[in-house]
Amino acid sequence: MDNVNIVYILLILSIVIVLYFLLLVAKIRQKKQIHYAVLSMTASILIWNIAVFLYLTFKDIKWLLLLSERLYLLGAILVSISVLFSGLIFAHTKIKFTWKHGLLLVVPMISIVVLFTNQTHHLFYTTFSLIPSEQDYGIYFTIHTIYSYLCIGAGMVYFGVFSIKNHGVFSTQPLLIVSGITLSLIIDAVSTFKIFNWSTAIENIVFAVTISLFILAMLKFDFLNVIPVALQTVVDLISDIYVVVNEDFEIIDYNKAFLNGFVGVARKVDVNEVIRKNYDDDDGSKLIGFLDEAVHKQKKMSFEISRFVGGCTIYYMVEITPIFSSGNHIGTIILKKDITEYKSNLKKVMQLNERLQALATKDWLTQSYNRYFFDERLQQEIDRVHRLQACSQDSDRRVNHFGLIMFDIDSFKAYNDNNGHLAGDELLQTIVTIVKEILHPTDILYRYGGEEFAVICCQTSEKEIKRVAEKIRQTVETYDFKFQDKQPGGNLTVSVGAVYCSTTNMKKDDLIKSADNNLYLAKSSGKNKVVF
Ligand code: GH3
Ligand code: MG
Ligand code: MG
Repeated sequence: MDNVNIVYILLILSIVIVLYFLLLVAKIRQKKQIHYAVLSMTASILIWNIAVFLYLTFKDIKWLLLLSERLYLLGAILVSISVLFSGLIFAHTKIKFTWKHGLLLVVPMISIVVLFTNQTHHLFYTTFSLIPSEQDYGIYFTIHTIYSYLCIGAGMVYFGVFSIKNHGVFSTQPLLIVSGITLSLIIDAVSTFKIFNWSTAIENIVFAVTISLFILAMLKFDFLNVIPVALQTVVDLISDIYVVVNEDFEIIDYNKAFLNGFVGVARKVDVNEVIRKNYDDDDGSKLIGFLDEAVHKQKKMSFEISRFVGGCTIYYMVEITPIFSSGNHIGTIILKKDITEYKSNLKKVMQLNERLQALATKDWLTQSYNRYFFDERLQQEIDRVHRLQACSQDSDRRVNHFGLIMFDIDSFKAYNDNNGHLAGDELLQTIVTIVKEILHPTDILYRYGGEEFAVICCQTSEKEIKRVAEKIRQTVETYDFKFQDKQPGGNLTVSVGAVYCSTTNMKKDDLIKSADNNLYLAKSSGKNKVVF
């Protein structure tokens, strides 16, 4: 088989392949800009190659020969401009057509006009031939060629650069695209600079192969269905660190935050190496350990780490998500986000919560628990005793009882009248302090109202309650209060009423009433007394 025949067969083959890809892309539903761009690219290649086919097949039919000459050059014009626009759209995902894009179309438009009026001026060509030595092209052909080269060059650079940017140098898609570009550039140079005197149809065949490689690269990796550039932009914009590693823990993708924040970052580098370079031994081992564990256990792991930078601690949340496909580990996504602000906000909320809790349950003046909390706690205590008594042995029952003590400052009105309300406030605080000191940690003091206080004594005996009540009275009696000499009897005292709760059908209000009655009895029988 001679050279011409081989070229002819390859040409037909290239037409079939390009047609196949054209149909493949045409079939895609809900087409995006890139689909239309690729369609125009394949369609113009098809026109270009069919023109060569017609030219080689129907050498004897003059009008067809004339037509195929025109079609050939028209195809060449359309191919270059469609490659440029496809590259542009590929790089930007989507473009908004402006007058600048319109300007790019001016030269191709002029070229078409010059081409179809060539017979009158021969500016494009005088003798058309596929064999370089037989060609006789006019001055406009040079303009067309330079412009076509610029368009195809720019378009291919867009394809190459953005494919590498999105997928890394080593992934299959950029490899296919870059090898396609290199192949066509070599053949094109050979033909343009007339290095060998072979048919320019070879250029068509190689170009068809290049475009096929592009489409294959795109379709195979579902490239036309996703918006990788937009995705990459989003990923780059987020301040969180994003890294994807393959099954061998080699970095295959990452964003700007990772690149800027870590040393030694590059594709194909072992992520464990980067971790070791950037973290101290402890944190590094912890991270590597979690990474292994996530993959081993096939589950997402998240944990917190902190770093001391410039005098303050920065907290990070690291999330490791292994990716599995049909049970095989194919890669892992690592996300690291700065949660310092979140942590400090959380701390503030917790502090505020504590403060609100204190405000809701404590009396602001004496910092003892308030009436609201007393009611709640007393009910809880009654319920607890009921529950325990229902299920405990006889011998245990006694310790499950509890007591309620209420005490009231004697002649406090007089104290206020003689020394002023501020002194009265201070006295209330002093009494709280000295009574708290003598109470058992589980017995809690509450301010019941004005100058009346209550103590709930948990898990206690009758004797113990009497003792505590008497101790309160005695402590106040013996304490040397400010201005106490002005009180009736020359001393500041309290009266105490106490009750012991031993029955299981006790009501909260009844219990308070009993203690209050005893307190009243203590007052009415001369004050500074305990009535039990
Ligand atoms: P008794 O011995 O019978 O208890 O007489 P008393 O004067 O202590 O009782 P009374 O109920 O007549 O007066 C209680 C006083 O306590 C009246 C009220 O102004 C005062 N009081 C209540 N709460 C406060 C407070 O928060 N600060 C001050 N300084 N005084 C208070
Ligand atoms: Mg009083
Ligand atoms: Mg009172």
